Amino acid sequence: MSNNYSSQVQDGKNAKSIKCKYCTSVMLKPAAANFEEGEHELPTITQNVKSASTITETVTAFWKVDDMFTFDNIGFSNTVGTTKYLACADCDAGPVGYHDLNTKISYVALCRIEYV
Ligand SMILES: [Zn+2]
Repeated sequence: MSNNYSSQVQDGKNAKSIKCKYCTSVMLKPAAANFEEGEHELPTITQNVKSASTITETVTAFWKVDDMFTFDNIGFSNTVGTTKYLACADCDAGPVGYHDLNTKISYVALCRIEYV
């Protein structure tokens, strides 16, 4: 595990609540998600997902959520193939991560959220 994440990870799970970078919407309670490293391309984040960026960047660390019902608040933006992009339920900022329609597992990008 990379050292720069260590203060946010406790027993492999999120130590603090996870919230939107742009508003106060809380997405996940403490210990609701598992830390996972792995590369995935995500469109760059925007505060208006209706005009989703076509520019992508590689994200390397995620909060893995096995069950959609674990989220306190989460929204969806567009779907590309078997990938459904996750957005803030309140202000539509996104994508903050993605949902795999095959595995039903969601991944929230560490670099796109904040902690409460
Ligand atoms: Zn928000």
